[in-house]
Amino acid sequence: MNSPRYATNCVERFLDYVKIDTQSREDSDSFPSTPGQLVLLQRLHDELKALGLADVTLDAHGYVFATVPATSSKKDVPVIGLLAHVDTSPEMSGLGVKPIIHCNYWGQDLVFPDDPSAVIGFNDNPHLAGQIGNDIITASGTTLLGADNKAGVAEIMGAVEYLLSHPEIAHGPLRIGFTPDEEVGRGTAHFDVAAFGAYCAYTMDGETLGELQVETFSADAITVTFHGLNTHPGFAKGRMVNAIKVAADFIGRLPKATLSPETTAGYAGFVHPYVMDAGVEKTSVKLLVRDFATARLGEMEQLVERLAQEAAAAYPGARAEVRVEQSYRNMKEVLEHHPDVVENACEAFRRAGLEPRIEPIRGGTDGSRLSFMGLPTPNIFAGEHNFHSRYEWISTSDMHKAVEVIIELCRVWEERASG
Ligand SMILES: [Zn+2]
Repeated sequence: MNSPRYATNCVERFLDYVKIDTQSREDSDSFPSTPGQLVLLQRLHDELKALGLADVTLDAHGYVFATVPATSSKKDVPVIGLLAHVDTSPEMSGLGVKPIIHCNYWGQDLVFPDDPSAVIGFNDNPHLAGQIGNDIITASGTTLLGADNKAGVAEIMGAVEYLLSHPEIAHGPLRIGFTPDEEVGRGTAHFDVAAFGAYCAYTMDGETLGELQVETFSADAITVTFHGLNTHPGFAKGRMVNAIKVAADFIGRLPKATLSPETTAGYAGFVHPYVMDAGVEKTSVKLLVRDFATARLGEMEQLVERLAQEAAAAYPGARAEVRVEQSYRNMKEVLEHHPDVVENACEAFRRAGLEPRIEPIRGGTDGSRLSFMGLPTPNIFAGEHNFHSRYEWISTSDMHKAVEVIIELCRVWEERASG
């Protein structure tokens, strides 16, 4: 492996952070949703203080903010932010993570000591081909690794520490933010954009080396509730209206060859039923509606409304109610108005020797919501692969590259400020 341009302890930090169980939970009423997240947030707060950052705060909701003071003599360098989330996915245990370093990777299948039946196959993981000679970190077979998003946390910490010990690198003020509960969709619920006080920010939460994400789905959530009439089944003739059957009829009417996750890719959107709560009296179906063009969401919502009413009409006495909630919007609609945010990131990638790969994300990020809350926030690769599973892996070489991109990004913003 080539030695990194900026030598930091981001890997050591990462190996340390993954040992703290920060799994978030959907069904929790507290914020953050789990106490383990606060353990890491408190730890990061203390480490930022010890490093000597200014304005280090841990607020009532667990958000950690801090400032790396400017080293530039220019007065109008914009404040830029760097963000990562501390929680890990509810889909796989994050308790007792034992990180393993597979040194000098030579193209083998990666096997796990704690479950030899689990394998990260070279042939099934095309990105491994680019990692020959690098060191790869995995978990041990029974937990996820937590590179999503502790790699981002560690990269930001590494870059911050480097900048503090190299005041000759000219940069403007940097705001650092570590956030809880991204994986359960509440990462921005209590994010105080005004207190963060940055012109723009970057989440370090993308996947493969070189990825820069500036475009996400726009998404809404729909709940369709069918009302029927329940009676004793022995005496139901001519009276019972079974809401389960109405819901099944509705689902059968949804497009099959198009407009579904299993039949679309690239820029094509979908309507996706994903949860059903079924009873004779009442059955509700939850659906995700997603497309890159926000206007298309409205069309799909009309389709859902029409199909729901048609299904209800086929069962006299049944009734359908449709409720739409906004989830998030394509960040591109905001970033278009701030071309410097994307251009400066592209320039930082090139200075780090990477051609930025800008691809639309078929999902959302915290940055999608933050962008619409007034903080334009694209997403930069952190090097995470196979996230939310025990097959997660990351290469230390990619982590060092992410640190390099952060430092170059700070330089570019400073150079391009007028004075
Ligand atoms: Zn993530």
